Amino acid sequence: MKFLLLVAVVLAVVWWLRGSRRTDSPGRDAPRQGTPAQQQDMVQCPVCSVHLPRSDALPGPNGQLYCCAEHRLRAEA
Ligand SMILES: [Zn+2]
Repeated sequence: MKFLLLVAVVLAVVWWLRGSRRTDSPGRDAPRQGTPAQQQDMVQCPVCSVHLPRSDALPGPNGQLYCCAEHRLRAEA
């Protein structure tokens, strides 16, 4: 009778570990892979075709984004 109780406890622990692992792993792993912390929105300068972060780009009057003031002036001319 003690043996049956032990088997029941072991099965319960195994079932509990499987269940908790299944619920924990997608929540912990998915955001780590899906959202890299350093990912930035990149834009391309229409004059020299260089890629740069949107925060570093200069917006032109036509709504396009340029890498520097010189290229913004060149596009306007
Ligand atoms: Zn440029």
